[in-house]
Amino acid sequence: MTLLFDTHTHLDSPKFDEDRDEIIQRAKDAGVHMLVNIGFNRETIPTTMALAEQYDFIYAAVGWHPVDSIDMLPGDLEWIERLCSHKKVVAIGEIGLDYHWDTSPKEVQQLVFREQIRLARKVGKPIVIHNRDAHEDVVRILQEENAAEIGGVMHCFSGSWETAKQCLEMNFYISFGGPVTFQNARVPKEVLKRVPLDRLLIETDAPYLAPHPFRGKRNESSYVSLVAETAAELLGKSVEEIGAITTENGKKCFGID
Ligand SMILES: [Zn+2]
Ligand SMILES: [Zn+2]
Repeated sequence: MTLLFDTHTHLDSPKFDEDRDEIIQRAKDAGVHMLVNIGFNRETIPTTMALAEQYDFIYAAVGWHPVDSIDMLPGDLEWIERLCSHKKVVAIGEIGLDYHWDTSPKEVQQLVFREQIRLARKVGKPIVIHNRDAHEDVVRILQEENAAEIGGVMHCFSGSWETAKQCLEMNFYISFGGPVTFQNARVPKEVLKRVPLDRLLIETDAPYLAPHPFRGKRNESSYVSLVAETAAELLGKSVEEIGAITTENGKKCFGID
């Protein structure tokens, strides 16, 4: 059986309240033998930790999402720092910048982003980066804060090869999700082909961004196999090989043995 690592998912989302156990079983049946669930604000950090404690194969990343950065209170950074010593917490994230939604001012987003990069360097954890319409500022801040020291994942990467190259230079892995499977995804497909094999990751970001042919529907972790299929086609490899390569990379990136 093909083994797959979904490196970015939100199975604690209320969208799975009706059938969460079934969805998790379906992921296992599809060969997903590891996944990282992302807790990104006051509500989802506790629910993510609960999933990681309940299931052996579920790991956790905890951080403060840029869209929610305005809600971060004094003490929240310390909360994240304390959670970093939990054995299932493998990264800080998702953190970054989101200029698509204007719920949090850019200056606040940037400050919260910088603080969490500094925390990650302090505790020695990789970071999971969310970047929407903010390529230049994300790269500049990662450079200024010396994120290369810890590296991490550019999640659901949607940038140009130029941006990917800058992130690779800073020891980041490039992760592709549902959008790379879309027929008109010319740039992501080109970038995927150029990413060094030892830096490639796959993810779902479920329940969002479902891959073809489920575009627009609720996404789930078992669909990471569709992302693996697209990567396999683009790289002229088998799905098994893509599963093995991205599992190895994910384990290395997140320090899982
Ligand atoms: Zn994201
Ligand atoms: Zn996400």
